[in-house]
Amino acid sequence: MKILQMHADFIEYKPIKKEIRDAEEAKTDAVREEEVVVLFTAFERGDTPELAAKAVRDAKEFLSKLGAKRLMIYPFAHLSQDLAKPADALPLLETMVGEAKAQGIETMRSPFGWNKAMQIKVKGHPLAEMSRSYSEGQPTAQPRTQEPKQAQRESDPRSRLKKSDFGSLPETDHRVIGERLDLFSFQETSPGMVYWHDKGLKLWRVLEEMIRKEETKAGYVELSMPLLANSALWKVSGHWDFYKENMFVTSLGGEEFALKPMNCPSTMLYYKTRKWSFRDLPLRIACFDALHRNELSGVASGLFRVKMLTQDDAHIFATREGARAVIDELLDLMLRLYSIFKFDFEVGISTMPDDHAGTLEEWDEATEVLKSAVTSKGLKYAIKEKDGTFYAPKIDVDIKDSLGRKWQITTIQLDLQLPRRFGLVHTGTDGKEHETVTVHRAIFGSLERFIGILLEHYKGKLPVWLSPVQATVVPLSDEHVVYAKKILSKLLEDGVRAQGDLASGTLNSKVRNSQLLKIPYVLVVGAKEEAAGTVAVRSRDGEQRFGVKPEDFVEEVRALSSRFE
Ligand SMILES: [Zn+2]
Repeated sequence: MKILQMHADFIEYKPIKKEIRDAEEAKTDAVREEEVVVLFTAFERGDTPELAAKAVRDAKEFLSKLGAKRLMIYPFAHLSQDLAKPADALPLLETMVGEAKAQGIETMRSPFGWNKAMQIKVKGHPLAEMSRSYSEGQPTAQPRTQEPKQAQRESDPRSRLKKSDFGSLPETDHRVIGERLDLFSFQETSPGMVYWHDKGLKLWRVLEEMIRKEETKAGYVELSMPLLANSALWKVSGHWDFYKENMFVTSLGGEEFALKPMNCPSTMLYYKTRKWSFRDLPLRIACFDALHRNELSGVASGLFRVKMLTQDDAHIFATREGARAVIDELLDLMLRLYSIFKFDFEVGISTMPDDHAGTLEEWDEATEVLKSAVTSKGLKYAIKEKDGTFYAPKIDVDIKDSLGRKWQITTIQLDLQLPRRFGLVHTGTDGKEHETVTVHRAIFGSLERFIGILLEHYKGKLPVWLSPVQATVVPLSDEHVVYAKKILSKLLEDGVRAQGDLASGTLNSKVRNSQLLKIPYVLVVGAKEEAAGTVAVRSRDGEQRFGVKPEDFVEEVRALSSRFE
């Protein structure tokens, strides 16, 4: 039995026509249910009533974890290639409904054997989507958090070499925008990981350079460290005890290794390569290495929740007294960057989780520093009870996506625990050794998620400074290709992100293509332009200007970029 479980704001379906001969009788009215956990269920050969009942009991556990009250069982054959016969499946479906009712759960189900039109709005929280698999002889099947498509067993491996399909999503969804603008794709062989296309990578680089410029001005240094590290490192950091289930573990020469889920432990090893004095602090260290986290990543998350991510990550090493000034500096940086994007955001302070390192007094001290720093910037915050990391309380900033779901971007954490585990010290004013504290921070958070947020925020129409391609050069006819190439070279040399559309084709179709890609400008060149050494500029909103000197256009793009417009 394969189950895909979704915690939904609503599900709406309408039986259209019978899919199989043995379909049960059903009304064809549309049905809508709200605040419901939906179990998309495929019954497989060999499934028993015991397994069906077990699946319901497991679902009940999630209902209570999620605070949900209602269950919908939705027969969904597409989760398996090894389906039970309809005559066997229907009684199992009834068993599930019966068991759920016996457990006191308000339960409904959709009809079996029908093609249904269906719409669902899944809540965005980490447990909103899960998949589980049950088979005989394995009655205590572990919850699986993989993509449902991975559950399909296909005999020809080549059939797995395909792109994920986002065809049915709304226009405002970043996955649809990303596909239209040719920014990235997801391939089913690397679930929850992004294939960045050229344009997407350009957008990425613009953001990375933006934050790197800020860091350079503020005196940060930047490191790059191995992605793979021996479990000894994760045992010292505590990740082995507190975070192992989210790590990709492998063995090498008989020892266990893991891909790093965070940069902190390796940055701390760097800190230990030499001695530091209070005069060296705060020491600001940036790192843009790739991280791997085996977190729940579902079909509905796209760039918002991925297994391979890169943060604009930094660790700032400070004296305990100096921590507050560091937090202030980071909040200023955050507010300055947010003002460019004009985001609406919500600040939260996440407190000590049940599973934590360190004493209550230390957590109180660190949490108070965060609270007073946030308040001093005139910001309001909500308390996120027990939502801190295992080593530190944190300031979190959430931004809403096009569906109104909240996603965390910025995080600022004041950590007294990991530095102690690693024995990080500095020489104080008294000439003695003192413990160093660490502030972990990412302003954009994961660049993947941040790009998803930006695409929805701007509805794909990125401002000129962010656009991966700022201008397309189009010759009016084949005679002007040489001149068009000359203009293109000049733009590229002067740092404008430009491309040429030099193939044959009508001007109108080329202008339309460029506009569909939301490229801010099309530069058209014909006989008049070539004779005068100019270009005709069309904006993506249809505004036209003739006789523009290429150097003036370059200046215009530079000026807009410097103002983040
Ligand atoms: Zn960190």
